[in-house]
Amino acid sequence: MSPPSLPPPAAGGRLTIDLAAFAANWRDLSARARGAEVAAVVKGDAYGIGIEAAVPALLAAGCRRFFTALPEEGLRVRALAPDAPVTVLGSFVAGQGALYARARLRPVLGSLAEVDDWLAETRGEVEGAVLHVDTGMNRLGMSFAEAAALAASPALARLGPSLVMSHLAVADTPAHPLNALQLERFSAVRALFPGVPASLANSAGLLGHAATHADVARPGIALYGGRSLAGADPMRPVVTLEARVLQLREVVVGEGIGYGAAFVATRPSRIAVAGVGYADGYHRMAGDGGAEAAVAGRRVPLAGRVSMDLVAVDVTDLPPGAVRRGDWIELLGATIPVDEVAARSGTIGYELLTGLGRRLERRYVGGTDG
Ligand SMILES: *Cc1c(COP(=O)(O)O)cnc(C)c1O
Repeated sequence: MSPPSLPPPAAGGRLTIDLAAFAANWRDLSARARGAEVAAVVKGDAYGIGIEAAVPALLAAGCRRFFTALPEEGLRVRALAPDAPVTVLGSFVAGQGALYARARLRPVLGSLAEVDDWLAETRGEVEGAVLHVDTGMNRLGMSFAEAAALAASPALARLGPSLVMSHLAVADTPAHPLNALQLERFSAVRALFPGVPASLANSAGLLGHAATHADVARPGIALYGGRSLAGADPMRPVVTLEARVLQLREVVVGEGIGYGAAFVATRPSRIAVAGVGYADGYHRMAGDGGAEAAVAGRRVPLAGRVSMDLVAVDVTDLPPGAVRRGDWIELLGATIPVDEVAARSGTIGYELLTGLGRRLERRYVGGTDG
């Protein structure tokens, strides 16, 4: 079931989310994993596409395991996937044991203090916690020494871990020596917990390093069509952002456009002013960074700064009549890759996708119910 799209408002911008491409990306990753189970990371409201749309599409594609960052996100996944393992990646905060237990959310325990809190709050009666051991990211996760102490302690049997995981820091850069070091350390971690399934790969690990696949891969960005490996865009685009043309203006030589008059016409110019701005998550830096837009598959440059609610596009080179008031201009999608816009805005596809705002009209296409 697709979630209800908002009624077509007078929105200046719209997001089109292709659930068929999204499901195809999961199936593609699943085929590449050759035997490892491929879960789905749906944190950040499923990288901006919406948990309520993403999870049913993934279930229909065959995905059976989900990871979120927060327990609130876990509850939303649980409501959609009553039987799937739902794991909360963020560290376990004391006092939430009953909530996790009630919704059968799996905590990710990344220190012995978290293990103690979890066991105390659940009296050792809830199995399935996930152990996170740091192998070089130095963000969350217990040290190897803590993991070794836990492996030798009677607490391990009470914990009944369902998975032992770590996280790759530089998988987007396959030649970086930290990849090999993390793999070596992860093998030592796995040896501490014989019989417990293991998980290491994010999208870049899954796509770029077969040695990281282990038992369960945890891709996020690749599902949503974003780039995970430097230089490679192997996935189908899922998200299209378009801005509605509100005005077309003829601008004479020497006139500036927008704040700071950052663009000055050097020829008689036709400018389309369209209704998406940085308050919609289309970054202000895109204008200064030379981002492009597209009209019916033809690239056109932005003209000047992105403002809060508006963006100006130089459509002088398009044939007369190619853009009219009310038309939609692509800011990212099939012609303008999300990672290209992100790079020109000084960021990455992850941040751009998760920041696309609530003012945008959302349309879901390619869902299993049409
Ligand atoms: C976000 C995240 C992932 C997914 O990473 P991608 O690069 O989006 O594939 C996997 N594991 C952990 C621990 C994460 O935080």
